[in-house]
Amino acid sequence: MKLFDNVKIAYADKSDRDLNRAYFLFKVISNPIITKILTFFFKISITFGLPIKGIIKATVYKQFCGGTTIKGSQRTIEKLWQSKIGTILDFSAEGKESEDDFYRATKEIIATIIKAKNEKSIPFAVFKPTAVAPFYLLEKISNSIKLNATQTKEKKEFISRIATICESAYNNKVPLFIDAEESWIQKAIDDIALEMMRKFNKEETWIYNTLQMYRSDRISYLKEIYADAQNSNYFLGLKLVRGAYHEQEIERARKLNYNCPVHTKKEDTDKDYNLAQKFCVEHLDKISFCSGTHNEESSEYLTKLINKHKIDKNDDRIIFSQLLGMSDHVSYNLAKKGYNIAKYVPYGPVKDVMPYLIRRAEENTSIAGQMSRELSNIIKEKQRRKKS
Ligand SMILES: Cc1cc2nc3c(=O)[nH]c(=O)nc-3n(C[C@H](O)[C@H](O)[C@H](O)COP(=O)(O)OP(=O)(O)OC[C@H]3O[C@@H](n4cnc5c(N)ncnc54)[C@H](O)[C@@H]3O)c2cc1C
Repeated sequence: MKLFDNVKIAYADKSDRDLNRAYFLFKVISNPIITKILTFFFKISITFGLPIKGIIKATVYKQFCGGTTIKGSQRTIEKLWQSKIGTILDFSAEGKESEDDFYRATKEIIATIIKAKNEKSIPFAVFKPTAVAPFYLLEKISNSIKLNATQTKEKKEFISRIATICESAYNNKVPLFIDAEESWIQKAIDDIALEMMRKFNKEETWIYNTLQMYRSDRISYLKEIYADAQNSNYFLGLKLVRGAYHEQEIERARKLNYNCPVHTKKEDTDKDYNLAQKFCVEHLDKISFCSGTHNEESSEYLTKLINKHKIDKNDDRIIFSQLLGMSDHVSYNLAKKGYNIAKYVPYGPVKDVMPYLIRRAEENTSIAGQMSRELSNIIKEKQRRKKS
């Protein structure tokens, strides 16, 4: 796509060494069999404490993560900002289940909000609800299953942690994304996110919920919450994504024999994603949104909508976002043209970030033998540098 063709801009801040590392990495993970073997090996090694952290840190971690701490991510933040790309610090500890872990995660998320306060280079904060609440509890709440006394207490604590995080975002004037997760825990997340929007988005948009457009019910849900925002007089903050748990959704629905909640044709997800972008642009009176995608067609479509509706490229109600280490050709070319753009910069201890890294590897394996878009862009840039 013309808009994103300029690989010189896309990789301007990458040294030859960075480029070679990325080439090697995407080449390896483009093979689904190798990816399966490697992720299995990494999981086993981490579980049994084998000394492989060094290898992970020098390769996949370096490509997709900012550092092990907020401070350790500073270089990445500054480097991105040199190209007018913001950072969204994403504390990526996943799969935690103890109250202590939830407390620590809450503190860390608030630390990212404080860090973002007054820093133009960090325009948003983010958190994943399962970092601050037990998965099983979110599932029970989502399915309206009666809670016992201990679970009722856990629910109160979870709501209080989310309210504390949202209040901190509101007080420090840092817009905050709430990530979306598996459909069978998402209702609990949607309900609390709406409650927080009703409370904190009265005058401006501080709290954003995430809509996964691979879900076949999300367009109607979008219209429903827009009507609610109008009736209850608050602003809707939304992050649009396609959704990261496609295989698990299909697998679970098949196993437990219920109607699959996600589209099974990619083009249906693509269609709904673009419909949602169109709806948001047409209702900017009430909606601010983030287009969280690596998809070139969807990103270009949004630039066309912005142009068609004569909206400023840097209108702060619309932001494009990609993940660190992915689709730099989209991020850097959009930034160069003056659009609002920020990248998720995951950080955290290697062991905790592993589920995130495995998802990135799986996302970049080749489909039906096609070369990934990352790999072909890196090759183009390597050839361009060789020639010049
Ligand atoms: C800034 C940012 C924030 C994100 N936050 C979240 C989040 O909070 N929650 C979350 O779940 N994910 C999140 N993601 C990940 C996102 O959901 C996607 O997994 C990822 O971005 C790939 O989709 P894409 O739009 O970039 O591009 P594409 O490569 O065009 O689309 C791939 C996606 O299409 C969908 N898909 C693939 N095959 C099919 C099929 N056969 N039928 C129907 N649909 C299919 C899947 O969702 C798959 O991930 C985020 C991504 C970004 C960039």
